[in-house]
Amino acid sequence: MTTADRPRGHPLYAAMGTTIFEHMSALARERGAINLGQGFPDDGYAGESPLARRLQAAAARAMIGQSQQYPPSPGLAVLRAGLAAHYSARGPAVLPAGVIVTSGATEAIAAAILALVSPGNEVLLFAPAYDAYAPLVRRAGGVAVIVPLRPPGWAYDEAAIHAAITPRTRAMIVNDPLNPLGTVASAEELAMLARLCTAHDLVAICDEVWEGVRFDGHRHRSLAAQPGMAGRAVKIGSAGKLFGLTGWKVGWAIAGEALAALVGRAHQFLTFTTPPALQFAVAEGLAYEIQLFTAQHDQWTRSRSRLIDGLREAGFVVADNAATWFVCIDLAASGIGMSDTAFAQHAIDAGVATIPVSALYEAPHPPTHLLRLCFTKPDVVLDTAVLRLSAARGGTGAGG
Ligand code: GLN
Repeated sequence: MTTADRPRGHPLYAAMGTTIFEHMSALARERGAINLGQGFPDDGYAGESPLARRLQAAAARAMIGQSQQYPPSPGLAVLRAGLAAHYSARGPAVLPAGVIVTSGATEAIAAAILALVSPGNEVLLFAPAYDAYAPLVRRAGGVAVIVPLRPPGWAYDEAAIHAAITPRTRAMIVNDPLNPLGTVASAEELAMLARLCTAHDLVAICDEVWEGVRFDGHRHRSLAAQPGMAGRAVKIGSAGKLFGLTGWKVGWAIAGEALAALVGRAHQFLTFTTPPALQFAVAEGLAYEIQLFTAQHDQWTRSRSRLIDGLREAGFVVADNAATWFVCIDLAASGIGMSDTAFAQHAIDAGVATIPVSALYEAPHPPTHLLRLCFTKPDVVLDTAVLRLSAARGGTGAGG
């Protein structure tokens, strides 16, 4: 490559590949594999959900009947008011002015980081974590300080977090429920994180996109709602997760008015706004009867059980989880002596795309025994995937 040909990109991007989600979805498309990697409900599956169907019809109506032009940058008034009412009914009061609608939760996270992190600021992240946090912090000029969660329960380790805080620490990013493991923080852990935020004057970016996807009676508790957090928390939410429509890329950031305004300044120079038809539909959907949401949740619960039961019958050990669209196979406990990345390759060859958890772990000594699978798929897809994973396991020489 001559000097003239060499791309002069930012070194951060020049050194990275595509995300593990994109990588695995591309492999699934290329190989015709079942995709249990990236987290989304299959089209057929979402299409069977009356909630998703009704929302699609609302979007189609809005596309024909409503404005086709730029909505206000922070979001349509009707959606900001709808989200404020939605959250006020479930926790501390939210004002419409505290809502910034974004093009997906990942944009909301980016806007929050750009708005809050100055060069040299340290931001506490936990591992494992969603892959966007650390690169966004670094691109904002911040330093990602990564504190591993403590297995086996993936607990927030107060001593380790405390030790990681310096006078330069500005913020922490807390994902609860946690992607990729599907665990939820305890009331004690959230109280401890809030205490650290108030004692050290930190802002918390609370990625709570999975708040509505909890099982086995686990209630959602928000770090943003803990004592002392008003005015120092930005809560991130997602219509993709709420309605099972990930491709819509409608998300939001919720905060006190002053913080929300700051996030809005960053958002106005990222995407500026979000397609109006989708915003109208989400605003309408927030007011749909609770039965539609319950039916969707029941469907997720059935699919989760079907995948867990199928995997167990096939001899896999499934790690404990309480939330998200994901379950993790514990490879080591299943008698598979391969790393997650090696088994993921093996599984692709057998026709199933998955996510190796180590790909979402930036700290040293990543766990290499966990493979994440998404279960929001039709029964036949889950059943076929289990058969194929079972065949892949046979090929490793593992017993059972
Ligand atoms: N949140 C999705 C997941 O964990 C991925 C989103 C993306 O691909 N950017 O599967």
